[in-house]
Amino acid sequence: RKGTVIITGASSGLGLATAKALAETGEWHVIMACRNFLKAEKAAKSVGITKESYSVMHLDLASLESVRQFADTFRRSGRPLDALVCNAAVYLPTAKEPTYTAEGFELSVGTNHLGHFLLARLLLDDLKQSDYPYKRLIIVGSITANLGDLRGLAGGLNGIQSSAMIDGGDFDGAKAYKDSKVCNMLTMQEFHRRYNEETGITFASLYPGCIATTGLFREHIPLFRLLFPPFQKYITKGYVSEEEAGGRLAQVVSDPSLTKSGVYWSWNKNSESFENQLSKEASDAEKARKLWEVSEKLVGLA
Ligand code: NDP
Repeated sequence: RKGTVIITGASSGLGLATAKALAETGEWHVIMACRNFLKAEKAAKSVGITKESYSVMHLDLASLESVRQFADTFRRSGRPLDALVCNAAVYLPTAKEPTYTAEGFELSVGTNHLGHFLLARLLLDDLKQSDYPYKRLIIVGSITANLGDLRGLAGGLNGIQSSAMIDGGDFDGAKAYKDSKVCNMLTMQEFHRRYNEETGITFASLYPGCIATTGLFREHIPLFRLLFPPFQKYITKGYVSEEEAGGRLAQVVSDPSLTKSGVYWSWNKNSESFENQLSKEASDAEKARKLWEVSEKLVGLA
């Protein structure tokens, strides 16, 4: 049978390119988990994903209610779950003031981390039950920041009783995004420690490369958006096209040789995958455990 993969934020950028790459193999049915149904449908058509190889299901990660509804809807579809890709993200580098999710969490950490944390926890049982030869939970990572002692997160991240920043500091939109990505990587490792042996599920993260052309930079100042792609292409040489990055993520989802769990994948200049070292902050096991417990409380699992 075909595998079923859920990809969050598959309506643009990396998620869309990955959906296309997996659908084209003929071995996967892609569930595009997106907040904008029409945009997702149009995106799928625009890159030529064939009708029978995808479905769009509504998911707004900035609402825990929507995350729960999504998990229910998916279950009612009767499909098995063989891979889950937590890819969606918001990045608000120029925001002066924090904005918030439906439940009142700062938007970057609320969407990128807490929404995905609840989603992955709710769908873990579905992954467990899959009889597919490989079962994987992939969380897209990136460069990291320092989370301090998590005092802002523990306080609810709501900008009222507590800071809107995880470390309790003043709001900084670019840092909030980086914080959310450290959370993503810590979450992947904590999943690995708690569930890999028992379930056989592969938990992994990756740095797809700098995909300077995606919508991620849509909130940035126009001059940045103009100069960032050529800067990455010719100066830092970290540039990777959406198509190539999509191929990388698709590889982490489906390549039979990439089944190692607890790994952070990156690619070298020749586009070969290798196990990257995690930063000190992103590999702090004690922080991962604490983040897990605080997050459980915030999303209503504990
Ligand atoms: P895009 O902005 O192109 O894609 C982000 C996706 O997330 C969009 O489909 C967007 O939906 C979706 N999304 C945002 N908020 C929500 C929400 N509340 N609920 C559901 N979906 C939501 O960015 P990229 O493709 O670049 O980013 C994809 C991943 O890659 C992210 O995890 C990012 O951190 C990571 N990454 C990107 C790098 C880069 O250089 N671009 C580098 C390293 C990592 P919509 O279409 O409706 O806006």
